[in-house]
Amino acid sequence: MIIKPAFSPSAKDILRDRYLWRDEERNPVEKPEEMLERVAKHVAGAESSLAMQYKWADEFYDVMARLLFLPNSPTLMNAGRPEPHGQLAACFVIGVEDSMESICEALRKQMLIHKSGGGTGFNFSKLRSEGAKVNSTNGRASGPVSFMGLFDKATETVQQGGMRRGANMGILNIDHPDIRKFIHCKDKDGTITNFNISVGVFDGFMEKVQSDPHGEEAALLAEIADSAWRTGDPGIVFLDAINRGNTTPNLGELSSTNPCGESPLYPNEACNLGSINIAKMVKDGAFDYELLGEVSAVATRFLDDVIDVNHYPLPEIAEAVKLTRKIGLGVMGWADLLFQLRIPYDSGEALELAGNIMRTIQQRAHETSVALGEEKGVPETLAHLGRRNATLTCIAPTGTIALLANCSSGIEPLFALEHTRVRTQIDGTKVIMKQVNRYYEQARKEGLPDEVMKRVFVTSHDVPPSAHVRMQGVFQRYTDLAVSKTVNLCHECGVRDVLDAYTLAWKEGCKGITVYRDGSKSSQVLYRKEDE
Ligand code: ADP
Repeated sequence: MIIKPAFSPSAKDILRDRYLWRDEERNPVEKPEEMLERVAKHVAGAESSLAMQYKWADEFYDVMARLLFLPNSPTLMNAGRPEPHGQLAACFVIGVEDSMESICEALRKQMLIHKSGGGTGFNFSKLRSEGAKVNSTNGRASGPVSFMGLFDKATETVQQGGMRRGANMGILNIDHPDIRKFIHCKDKDGTITNFNISVGVFDGFMEKVQSDPHGEEAALLAEIADSAWRTGDPGIVFLDAINRGNTTPNLGELSSTNPCGESPLYPNEACNLGSINIAKMVKDGAFDYELLGEVSAVATRFLDDVIDVNHYPLPEIAEAVKLTRKIGLGVMGWADLLFQLRIPYDSGEALELAGNIMRTIQQRAHETSVALGEEKGVPETLAHLGRRNATLTCIAPTGTIALLANCSSGIEPLFALEHTRVRTQIDGTKVIMKQVNRYYEQARKEGLPDEVMKRVFVTSHDVPPSAHVRMQGVFQRYTDLAVSKTVNLCHECGVRDVLDAYTLAWKEGCKGITVYRDGSKSSQVLYRKEDE
């Protein structure tokens, strides 16, 4: 473990503020390179012999220190902590049945998972509607939206190791009697603040919208689109697309995802994620597929090892995870890669490259999982797949780890080419820093022709909604789990644009869609851009 990690000064600030271990006086007790060593060694602890542990710890350290790959935040923060700490996965789903016992149980699970650093998703559709009869008391039920308020309050109360507050996904299916109340449950500021919400939609519903534009279904979808146009909520999850992509239908149907939508999971399942920084893979002006393949193989082994060294917050979670061993390997730095290769985000060339990159990752990850199955065993439930993991690929938002890797987030276009950032120094004083995207700055210095600058160096609002959706669609094609993506709309876009984006997303085989119109009320749970 020789090389120094390539963290930028602002990445080091974030590490100091949120990731490095501290003593009782809250002074960091490790340096960034020691954090990576801790993570690499702990994860490689899953390997069978000391020799293998050394070998893989070195490989894991190397890809992280070169910022070619980073695991999700809980792994960086918690790897190596003694039990009952040391929870390493970002994504969980909790089942909720229509009984008070089940609701209490779900609340307990949520609080323990949040305390451990994970985010939780729920589908509340099994709960009876507001005002329905409660047999045991002769009373009336509160309904799913009211119970969501309870889960929201609990989230408010539980701090994740003092680092961050938890996040949730709340889903209600389109055919639930309380759906309209659900669609509008975040209309008023400050009602439900710790949930992303999504409507669960089936193919039959979308087909009905197409065939009868004046029917009940079309009116309901328009109401969803109108709300999303105004506030960003709700999103949509396409449940049939999710279940078509389910590699273990023998274990039942999937009905929920984690908070940002990228991991459809069964109740009690958890999934740990990691992302490859593709912006770092340009060699002699072209994309370096060989490096991508190598990093994909190491990263797959890393994420599979995480499952074995993870301390799950509840025994039923440990059990559910062992059945499917789901992992989610994805990408970050996509917009930065396109800048370097001078390819416009909204172009056929970009779609083709996206497909080639994601296909390479998926193939390599699947091959590695088959090999790991031969080496370490295939779970009985996955005998039909012949590999060690039910799912391998997933595209996360990479809200924080992209800052650590100093690259653009996930597969999103840049939000701005230049912005100001308020940096808090160690002594608490603040300095305002102007930040310019480095590839943009370099290109400006090189004096590229104006048309090239305009076409290539675009931000999320310059990209038309349909191009956002198509990009999500092509990445989804080679993604076992789902793709986290926000379809950004310009302020002038109308509700019609939202509806068109929904239809296109459904036709493209996306597993969900989230839109956000510039300047509308922000109700995103995560990453309010407080520094910008
Ligand atoms: P990171 O960059 O910190 O690794 P991502 O932005 O990629 O995280 O988010 C991945 C997943 O991590 C989310 O979909 C969610 O499940 C979980 N997550 C993110 N932020 C939080 C949070 N504040 N609390 C709980 N879980 C979170």
